[in-house]
Amino acid sequence: NKKHSGDIGLIGLAVMGQNLILNAADKGFTVVAYNRTVAKVDHFLDNEAKGKSIIGAHSIQELVDNLKRPRRIILLVKAGKPVDDFINQLLPYLEKGDIVIDGGNSHFPDSNRRYTELNEKGILFVGSGVSGGEEGARYGPSLMPGGHPDAWPHIKEIFQSIAAKSDDEPCCDWVGDGGAGHYVKMVHNGIEYGDMQVICEAYDLLKRVGKFSNKEIGDVFAKWNNGVLDSFLVEITRDILYYNDPTDNKPLLEKILDTAGQKGTGKWTAINALDLGMPVTLIGEAVFSRCLSALKSERTRASSILTGPTVEGESPIQDKQKFVDDLEQALYASKIISYAQGFMLIREAAKEYGWKLNNPAIALMWRGGCIIRSVFLGEITSAYRENPDLENLLFHPFFNDAITKAQKGWRATIGKAVEFGVPVPAFSTALSFYDGYRSEKLPANLLQAQRDYFGAHTFQVLPGEENDFLKKGEWI
Ligand code: NAP
Repeated sequence: NKKHSGDIGLIGLAVMGQNLILNAADKGFTVVAYNRTVAKVDHFLDNEAKGKSIIGAHSIQELVDNLKRPRRIILLVKAGKPVDDFINQLLPYLEKGDIVIDGGNSHFPDSNRRYTELNEKGILFVGSGVSGGEEGARYGPSLMPGGHPDAWPHIKEIFQSIAAKSDDEPCCDWVGDGGAGHYVKMVHNGIEYGDMQVICEAYDLLKRVGKFSNKEIGDVFAKWNNGVLDSFLVEITRDILYYNDPTDNKPLLEKILDTAGQKGTGKWTAINALDLGMPVTLIGEAVFSRCLSALKSERTRASSILTGPTVEGESPIQDKQKFVDDLEQALYASKIISYAQGFMLIREAAKEYGWKLNNPAIALMWRGGCIIRSVFLGEITSAYRENPDLENLLFHPFFNDAITKAQKGWRATIGKAVEFGVPVPAFSTALSFYDGYRSEKLPANLLQAQRDYFGAHTFQVLPGEENDFLKKGEWI
């Protein structure tokens, strides 16, 4: 009798769900599997799940009956309505203290709402970010759970054993209340947009200004992957650049249409940054760059109408090694800015939504398993462990020093891009942010004057400069 023997239930037998089940079964947990299209349950049991500690359920009732209490049920279904539909189907069968975990890419306001709705019914809701794609789900994803804190002791063991490990530490810890887990996953995805964009800008400069072949660019990325930029995205970029289409042995990359798609999580991050008034400029530019790329036919017309510098023929670069080294610095510095901005946003969100967030744990969760995993995140984890209340990542001596050293190459790279007409929106917005952030004075005095001049919005006067005339606030 297998009744009540399941450690955890999982609904949604698509790629993510199946792989997460196999991962949990490998770690010694008994998993009860269910799917809307029930035929997929039997197919899974007869194939991938054969011989493993996996129980198939053919109805919600059967799923619930097979679970130990408190019941722990993970949803890995399409985000949006399917999540609410399944929660509603589950509710009649659940008891107080049972735990419902949404592991899909849900938007954090939905998780806030679900947390509140289920809390009123005594059900503990967890919204968990899951990153690492299919491979991660199977062999160790980054998991970012948040929601009802009472759920954590009941799911901690399972979550931390199936998660990726970095230096033997699980890339999973409790993020915070309500929708905090999905919030942190959203920012992760936004940072992923930024990381991808800065890499694309480096490739573009190497190709258009350096006139490097794909193999040579691959070699550059291979070298970078042994240094400060060591990361999953740099590694796969190297492999992509080396890849030839076997039909004609030509670089596959150059056959791909240059219009980027997006599922919306970068946009959510940028919108949230605007809502919270935080200058998360690099992610914003990364989203806009995808939008600009999507205007392919318009760009094709513009390319024959609008003029500007282009590099025809030979590369104008004399010292190619310096060009590549400067570029590495530009990439590194821009990345530091992007993560500093991401953590500024997280900090503001914690204030705005009343979450107590654990910054060192967030950096550690991103250290392994997920798409943005990198050696660099190890440095961020150490910085926040040293000082969990660090006001800004840039103030930490390691990053302050790194950006000071990278600055010359960063500025030189942007200079070359401007000179030769290659767009580098992420590199340059990062530098503008840096120069703005380190400016004690910005031209916002003029802006306030303009606002007051046309709209009587008033302005504040600098300490020591107050007088009766300024108090009247009239422009003569
Ligand atoms: P998916 O294609 O997003 O979703 C397929 C699953 O959702 C199937 O089990 C499907 O059931 C169910 N489903 C779809 N519409 C439904 C509806 N209207 N009502 C009930 N169930 C419905 O699968 P996935 O790629 O494995 O992703 C699962 C979740 O993880 C998603 O939220 C996704 O965004 C997130 N995620 C994915 C990745 C990734 O790399 N793929 C990475 C991280 C997070 P049927 O079999 O009956 O159609």
